[in-house]
Amino acid sequence: QLQKPRLILDNGLRLDGRRPDEMRPIKIELGVLKNADGSAIFEMGNTKVIAAVYGPKEMHPRHLALPDRAVLRVRYHMTPFSTDERKNPAPSRREIELSKVIREALESTILVELFPRTVIDVFMEVLQADAGTRLVSLMAASMALADAGIPMRDLIAGVAVGKADGVLVLDLNEPEDMWGEADMPVAMMPSLKQVALLQLNGNMTPQEFRQALEMAQKGIETIYNLEKEAIRSKYAELKEE
Ligand code: UDP
Repeated sequence: QLQKPRLILDNGLRLDGRRPDEMRPIKIELGVLKNADGSAIFEMGNTKVIAAVYGPKEMHPRHLALPDRAVLRVRYHMTPFSTDERKNPAPSRREIELSKVIREALESTILVELFPRTVIDVFMEVLQADAGTRLVSLMAASMALADAGIPMRDLIAGVAVGKADGVLVLDLNEPEDMWGEADMPVAMMPSLKQVALLQLNGNMTPQEFRQALEMAQKGIETIYNLEKEAIRSKYAELKEE
């Protein structure tokens, strides 16, 4: 589609039928891969990401190890079939940048100082992209780390807020991401009440920014509860076995 469609319809609803403050359905599953130390699938509407964690393990080559903490290696990648048009599987500049942004967010929560001289590998594969892949990847990673039993200060939950046809909307889909006036992904460590990632594309007034942050925080609270529930149900399963 080359021309901007209307994003907010006469009835006040969005193109996919959601209210402005309504998120897409969320599905979280832990322990989906046998060969990883921890893994998870995280779905938010049509955006689906699988994450796998290996480690902490000995770092090779040794000279790359740090004496006082674990090194985090993080890869965000989109599969060729995750987008409308086949994505070249070679890592793009965008994927390299998002890997760095996600690593920095994860570094704020993982207790890396508990595992000196080791490395923790975190892989994220976007299976299906419909906006919000950096946040869904970050949350999938957070769930996979929890599944691997790696100690963290808090889980990470995140959602984007944007502006479409002048209206603040929660959890953007692809047309809103592409045609909207603003896109602000926000991720937090909810119990610590700390921001782990915040970016803004486009423009908002300071007042809209404050409203947007509040809207994101409400969404994050809901997601955080679903994350805790997903972890609890995994442990319940283990207990039964
Ligand atoms: N996208 C795509 N191909 C690409 C990059 C992005 O189709 O090579 C789409 C995809 O749906 C993605 C959306 O554009 O979710 C928004 O991308 P953005 O860079 O804003 O990151 P995201 O919102 O996924 O974190």
